[in-house]
Amino acid sequence: MSTKPRILVIGAGPAGLGAAARLLERAGQSIEVTVMHMGHQLGGKAADLRHGDSGGYDHGCHMIAGFYRNMKGLMSRAGIDLGNTLLSMGGAAHVYAPHNRKLHTIEGDGAFYVSSQLQSLPPLSLQERLTFDRVMNEAYVLTLRGQAEIRRLDDKCFSSWCIERGMPPHIAHNLPMLRYFQNVYFNYSGKVSAYHLLQSFRLMSDFGMESATQYVLPAGYTTTIWNPIGDYIRRMGGKFIPYARATNWQYQGQAITGVEIERPDPSVNRFDLAGWSQEDAHLGKGVRTVYTNFDYVISTVPSAVFRSMNQDNKQLWNSKFFNGISRLRSTATVSMTVVTRKPVGVYPGPVFGLPDPLGICVNMKPYWARYRDDPDIGSVLSFVGPERGFEAWSNEEIINSTIDSFSASDEFGCIREAGILDVEIRRNVTDYSMSFACEPGVQKYRPGNKTPFCNLFLAGDWVRNEVDLVCMEGAITSGQEAADMLMRQVNSGGCELPGKLRVC
Ligand SMILES: Cc1cc2nc3c(=O)[nH]c(=O)nc-3n(C[C@H](O)[C@H](O)[C@H](O)COP(=O)(O)OP(=O)(O)OC[C@H]3O[C@@H](n4cnc5c(N)ncnc54)[C@H](O)[C@@H]3O)c2cc1C
Repeated sequence: MSTKPRILVIGAGPAGLGAAARLLERAGQSIEVTVMHMGHQLGGKAADLRHGDSGGYDHGCHMIAGFYRNMKGLMSRAGIDLGNTLLSMGGAAHVYAPHNRKLHTIEGDGAFYVSSQLQSLPPLSLQERLTFDRVMNEAYVLTLRGQAEIRRLDDKCFSSWCIERGMPPHIAHNLPMLRYFQNVYFNYSGKVSAYHLLQSFRLMSDFGMESATQYVLPAGYTTTIWNPIGDYIRRMGGKFIPYARATNWQYQGQAITGVEIERPDPSVNRFDLAGWSQEDAHLGKGVRTVYTNFDYVISTVPSAVFRSMNQDNKQLWNSKFFNGISRLRSTATVSMTVVTRKPVGVYPGPVFGLPDPLGICVNMKPYWARYRDDPDIGSVLSFVGPERGFEAWSNEEIINSTIDSFSASDEFGCIREAGILDVEIRRNVTDYSMSFACEPGVQKYRPGNKTPFCNLFLAGDWVRNEVDLVCMEGAITSGQEAADMLMRQVNSGGCELPGKLRVC
């Protein structure tokens, strides 16, 4: 029997892949790493919406920012050629101003540049402009003092922070940059944590002008990034178990001893999209079992999934650590792609601030290789936004309202007149597809990598980490931090498990 420490990583999204790769990069053949996941293809919420030849839309138009250092590092080590893969949107972004239905273009990279352009909406008097500049300067000085300093502002909305510093409320509540970040982090209206906004600024200006550049990929994320990273993990000896859904923890004392798993329901799990045949499933149809072949676990399931595990165990959920996690909330999102015959919305770069629910739109026609040179396709409009407030709307209502409000702008052109070739809508409402709600005051409840169980570590975009923003970079960073913490524990003698003592 192998005496190597056996590490089970649950989840194959950015955090799980980041954790598995880091473990194997650090410890090589001296450990066994198995990645178990539910079965929608590699990449979790950042996976392709469709896969292979049948398409290649992303699960919401995912963008990579210049400051994603850990993500870009992992891609390079997995052999992905960054130069040919990351397509810069030219430093251009646009904010839609509903009051005059016009687009305001921000050109150039760097947070300072972006913010100085964002402030010009709506028109400000000289006095208002001076106040605005003073408060913004104060914000930037604060970001230079480091993450610990700005993290203290998490309980505050950014707009309240501005008002306390003398900014008139009508400006503070309508800051275009607030709308921009509400869109980016799928936040509820008017509630963007001062910490998360300032942390975004900090990272967007931390590593030079390139930090705020936004990139997209020439094809879907699973094909372009996550599958090559999966192959990299396999080359280092890692194994994957697809189609296994973790439902509950089993534990004795302070150690996790088993993970209850079941074969996921294909109808809710996009089974058919995963690119594997159903025979690859670890479990037979309807089978439930307890998986015990591990010494350590890194759980990277989304926070809504984690909160659903061992739900009836009041003692566990009333304990301090778990009680904090129970206060976290998740947001459902909507993603939609519209393909048109003639060009509409021809701007390079993302548009933010469109009417809810789909506030962000990127025309992917110039970027996706599959469409780029196709003369029969004019535009591939990829929309994304939060579902909150629109739960009662039907798909048709969301589609029609998005198309109507987009077409009402003087600058985009009419989608219907351009000839609609295809519409794909996805409502990300299940526990595994919802996003963590990064709202003001949330930091005090976000767990770190360590749990009260000596052999259970947490990672994911909802777990506190050096980045702390709800994005792929935050998830990968958190996975790497969990792997490092676990290896420190293994190297310092391991952890005592019931019924046996493994000396690692
Ligand atoms: C519509 C949309 C657009 C987005 N746009 C961007 C963007 O432009 N840029 C950006 O950086 N980020 C974006 N994000 C956020 C980004 O997708 C997430 O931050 C990132 O995917 C989180 O990674 P994760 O590994 O923590 O979790 P996930 O990606 O959710 O991965 C979780 C993994 O756990 C598995 N899993 C779940 N439940 C179970 C279970 N019970 N048992 C076993 N396995 C399970 C899943 O199969 C998956 O493999 C967007 C998110 C959405 C929803």
